[in-house]
Amino acid sequence: MALEEYQRKRDFKQTPEPPPKVGKAGQRRFVVQKHRATRLHYDFRLEMEGVLKSWAVPKGPSLDPADKRLAMQVEDHPVSYFDFEGIIPPGNYGAGTVMVWDMGTWDPQGNASEMLQKGDLKFRLNGEKLKGDFALIHMKSRRPGTKGTEWLLIKHRDAYDQPGYDIDHYDYSVLTKRTMDEIAGDASSAEWKSSRPASRVGTLQKSSWLADSIAKLDARKAKEARQSAGAKTTKSAAAKSLKLNPAPAEDTSKELTESPRAGAKSSAKKKASRRMTSSPKE
Ligand code: MN
Repeated sequence: MALEEYQRKRDFKQTPEPPPKVGKAGQRRFVVQKHRATRLHYDFRLEMEGVLKSWAVPKGPSLDPADKRLAMQVEDHPVSYFDFEGIIPPGNYGAGTVMVWDMGTWDPQGNASEMLQKGDLKFRLNGEKLKGDFALIHMKSRRPGTKGTEWLLIKHRDAYDQPGYDIDHYDYSVLTKRTMDEIAGDASSAEWKSSRPASRVGTLQKSSWLADSIAKLDARKAKEARQSAGAKTTKSAAAKSLKLNPAPAEDTSKELTESPRAGAKSSAKKKASRRMTSSPKE
């Protein structure tokens, strides 16, 4: 089922996010959500086949064709996530503030499913902030320690391109016109202001930051898994869970985007199996 992973990561008694329900196919809406979780990022979602195909874009989309934005494919989301804006409470997966940064419709420039499969998705956006032709390109060469979930989001040259585009000038919700701080509420905004900008610049500026940091994190997780998995999980149980949960696509992006504590509902066994599947040996 398309939304299994979405469901597995969340406790719907704890989070205000919508339940995992597959919608009807055929509609072509898109949404970009600005998400201040462990790290600030933008979630780019295209409605396709009754779900929202989703990518976490650390720097956010750009209208400047010179920008090649890293986009980590993450788990499909239900279509009802389309207008989700608000706060995911502490302790939940992706805890933090979510803004509906842009929304609209999209038109694939070809067969959407085939282009997605091929890793070369060309489309036109008709949103409030994002307009014109874009491409999502799957990066074929998997770097060591990555899961093959890295894509690039690129604006094509057209009437809507905008050299020097600065996404920070557009910090408002297209749904409610609120800023991130207004959505987060006054109580927490002071804290966010003092801590976020510095960490964002530090982690996102260097070109080699991605491969290095992911490789280190995966190596550390693999080591932890080797040390703890033996005691908690029998070999057959581990093999079984590997079979049942093949290579979760979100693992690399999770380190960029979400809290390492993946949710209140995870059991120790689940955590162990997740560590096992994130081994860089694959
Ligand atoms: Mn997110």
